Amino acid sequence: MSVAMPRRMALVELPLPDEALLSWVDHNTAALGLTRSRTATALGLMAAGPSTGLRLQNLTHWISDATAARIQAATGIQRAASLSLTLRRYQPAALRADVPPPDELRPVSPQGMLSGQFVYRQFITYCPTCVREQGRWSIAWHLPWTFTCPRHHCYLAGVCPACQNAVAPSRGPLTSGCTAPIPAGSRPTRRHPGHTEGYTRRCGADLGTAHAVAVEDTRVSAAQQYVNNLLDAPTRCGAAARQALIDVRTMMAVALRFGRLEHLKDADPAVCSRFNEFTTRRDGLPHAYIYGVWGARAPFDPLLMAAGVRIAHLMVTSPDPSAVLASVLPCDGPQRRERSFAFDRTDWVQVSPRYEQLARRAIGIRAYEACVRKVASTPTT
Ligand SMILES: [Zn+2]
Ligand SMILES: [Zn+2]
Repeated sequence: MSVAMPRRMALVELPLPDEALLSWVDHNTAALGLTRSRTATALGLMAAGPSTGLRLQNLTHWISDATAARIQAATGIQRAASLSLTLRRYQPAALRADVPPPDELRPVSPQGMLSGQFVYRQFITYCPTCVREQGRWSIAWHLPWTFTCPRHHCYLAGVCPACQNAVAPSRGPLTSGCTAPIPAGSRPTRRHPGHTEGYTRRCGADLGTAHAVAVEDTRVSAAQQYVNNLLDAPTRCGAAARQALIDVRTMMAVALRFGRLEHLKDADPAVCSRFNEFTTRRDGLPHAYIYGVWGARAPFDPLLMAAGVRIAHLMVTSPDPSAVLASVLPCDGPQRRERSFAFDRTDWVQVSPRYEQLARRAIGIRAYEACVRKVASTPTT
């Protein structure tokens, strides 16, 4: 069913250059004094109906050309500007890097969560100072690749300062604070007289009051800049940027699998402390559950991302990537199978040939060669 072209709005607040679609809708919701659902309809985004938040979250990931045309009819905003409110702006590199090979079209395994789903997540990170100053949020905060704020030189926050829950803009406008439901007490149930049930209320805490940890470490800024250049690559460089991003992603999986505190020399104390906590927990878990500590439904953790990408950046810019983690990479031995299990197969089938030696050491020769055989036997489409 096609949606009718909307009427031209008399008044519309324009989006900021790097704003997320959900943020832009909420800003107009507040300015127009309408509900989120009516605002989204007036802006040409969708027909009225249930699940506005979820639908807006999906539209922040991707809008079709037809939706962009309706936004233009309603607001005069050009197609390119409305696409850049969504993750479609990252299509040349990041979005395509998340498309699995044809034989991998299956649910992502628990250990693949880390490396296999780098774009489509339901929670965002945020810069407390940006939130305080502008009350708008950036499309880059929807990507786990973003862990620092270039304007305020701080690490992004991953959870609400009051309730410590992940931040989900799909649950309601962040303009009125944290959207997480928190326990608010108990009351008698209607169905079972004499019993009580818990109920929740919206947390509502001001995200602008969260503590922003300053970035002093120049290596972490360089790693963020390296990743940003790949994310923002123009279409003509898309294939090269995509390959470089897949390489960083795989090196990050290696860094989080094997890295130790000693690989974060001169990093900021908050990053070291978070990574130390992670590796302590990691080393106490059976090998198969390593990435269970960080699934797709868990909040983004910008400090852990910073640690992983910082080590990965050292690896991708090193003449010998395996030298960076040389002290901890396993030599061939009986735990070869366990090591390979900690990676998703797709990690190694797509990575550049220069990482072959590292792959042989990280997952073992047999596991690596099985990956290569699998790729060779997969028909290309
Ligand atoms: Zn900021
Ligand atoms: Zn909260």
